[in-house]
Amino acid sequence: MFETEIVTVDPQAFDPKALAKAATILRRGGLVAFPTETVYGLGAVIYNRASVENIFTVKGRPGDNPLIVHIYKQEQLAEIALAVPEQALILAQRFWPGPLTMILPKKERIPAEVSAGLPTVAIRLPSHPVAQELLRQTDQPVAAPSANLSGRPSPTRGSHVITDLSGKIEMIIDAGPTGVGVESTVLDLTSTRPRILRPGGVTHEMLEAVLGAGTVDTPSQINISRPLAPGMKYRHYAPEAPLRLLTGEVEPVRRFLRETVHRQQQAGKRMGIIAYDEDQVAFPSTAEVSFFSLGQRTNPAEGAERLFHVLRLCDQVGVDEILAVAPPRQEVGEAVYNRLFKAAGGKVEEIT
Ligand code: AMP
Ligand code: MG
Repeated sequence: MFETEIVTVDPQAFDPKALAKAATILRRGGLVAFPTETVYGLGAVIYNRASVENIFTVKGRPGDNPLIVHIYKQEQLAEIALAVPEQALILAQRFWPGPLTMILPKKERIPAEVSAGLPTVAIRLPSHPVAQELLRQTDQPVAAPSANLSGRPSPTRGSHVITDLSGKIEMIIDAGPTGVGVESTVLDLTSTRPRILRPGGVTHEMLEAVLGAGTVDTPSQINISRPLAPGMKYRHYAPEAPLRLLTGEVEPVRRFLRETVHRQQQAGKRMGIIAYDEDQVAFPSTAEVSFFSLGQRTNPAEGAERLFHVLRLCDQVGVDEILAVAPPRQEVGEAVYNRLFKAAGGKVEEIT
């Protein structure tokens, strides 16, 4: 058990000295949770094998799910990757700092704990000012998965990290909501064609706009007999209550929501709904439903920012079952769809 120190910083205006202790903790082998523009990360210096192992212990993360290495300047790439292909340099130029993780062949010096024994390593340069300053002061690459308990919705607020990891790590840096709200795009650059292993803030369209139309494979084009991102095979991002993901035209889905909520309530179940502002009309004001909005359907970024917070709110309210309306699979909506699909245990129901 730790007395976890909680440091609150304003990401727009903070004194770099506020992060000095966090950098010291990391350098001497401790664990620090810190904000990034995607979700909060749980960091350890990559060369400290014991602290990297501790990340897995604290999160309850399966040992075969590798970590993302965080850097603050592009020059650190050469320290970590065995080879940096031209495409990686072009993408780094365009999307770093930002929510793009690239998989490259790893140098031998990168401990096997970081890459879960794989010959490759995931690398990202985050844009969040607090993450950048912390990495700069630490001046060592930092391995950081999401700062939640494995399987739970990812943390997009300091309070989410405190709920999951308080008493288990040395320090939590709370800088408020993260911004993008879903984890980084994971792009594998170690096979013949670049392929997206996990959709995120940098979309397929954005990648092809840089690398050329038809050059980047998406998860649906990949035959997942063996999971490519080891994380793909686990139930993920899940609230405690079972979640059903619903797809279809707006009106039939609304009717289905209304009827199902009514029926389940009669059976004594507390229902949670995850949908859009406009869908609230589906429920008479007398109906006792926990309605959580992902904002406006036409604004995928808003849905991404709210998603994990809303999943955690479902837990707080203590609903028995969640019905979630699938987002339009455009822009970052693809990543939101992907997370909801996993939260639903890899199922989606077509409503007609
Ligand atoms: P997290 O940090 O919890 O958001 O998870 C990191 C994601 O990156 C997981 O889906 C991992 O499986 C994936 N990942 C990390 N390193 C590699 C790698 N070397 N090859 C494939 N996927 C990776
Ligand atoms: Mg995670």
